[in-house]
Amino acid sequence: MTGRAQQLRDALAPEADNASARFAGHHRGRLPGSATVHGVQMQAVQGLGLHVPGPSCHVGIGIEHWTAFEPTDDPITCQRAACVHAARNPPKDSVDVHQMLLDLDVPQGPGQQEAPTGT
Ligand SMILES: [Zn+2]
Repeated sequence: MTGRAQQLRDALAPEADNASARFAGHHRGRLPGSATVHGVQMQAVQGLGLHVPGPSCHVGIGIEHWTAFEPTDDPITCQRAACVHAARNPPKDSVDVHQMLLDLDVPQGPGQQEAPTGT
């Protein structure tokens, strides 16, 4: 990385971190001035080694949108393939916890204990 790129990276890193923090626990987002809800995917900022959340379909990606791409819990409405895929395949951590409990294959009955560790 050139000195100039490093300077740019250093200047943008806090904004990238802030953008990532805002999307913690959110997997859908909206670009400014748009009602369309997109899936969210971490995206590399070319040449800078930074990653920021952006629309899965890569529409509207630009440094100017890092702080403007807003997290939402509304349903995905974008019809581009990557966002349709995101809507059909939500990340595991966004699945309703009660549904997850129903899906678990939990051993039942007495005698089910954790295996001893160590020797
Ligand atoms: Zn989209």
